[in-house]
Amino acid sequence: MKKYDSDLFYDQLVSRLQDNKFPPCRFCGCDKYATEVSYANILTDDRLGRAGLDSSIPSGILICQNCGHMDFFVLGILDAL
Ligand SMILES: [Zn+2]
Repeated sequence: MKKYDSDLFYDQLVSRLQDNKFPPCRFCGCDKYATEVSYANILTDDRLGRAGLDSSIPSGILICQNCGHMDFFVLGILDAL
């Protein structure tokens, strides 16, 4: 299993943005974001006890530094895991 690299996630995400800039946060208008050192698994199984790696979507987390709103981006699409 590849190790998650939050810097790679951030760089891959920025490279896909128009003019390599983040749009303003849709809730507060701030354009400063941070990420976490680990990623989130978005579970796709409603039976939490049975949810495993094959029933989750590894996602990088982008957090607005002003209001704390979080967006999740699928790491597989970003080629970041
Ligand atoms: Zn915000």
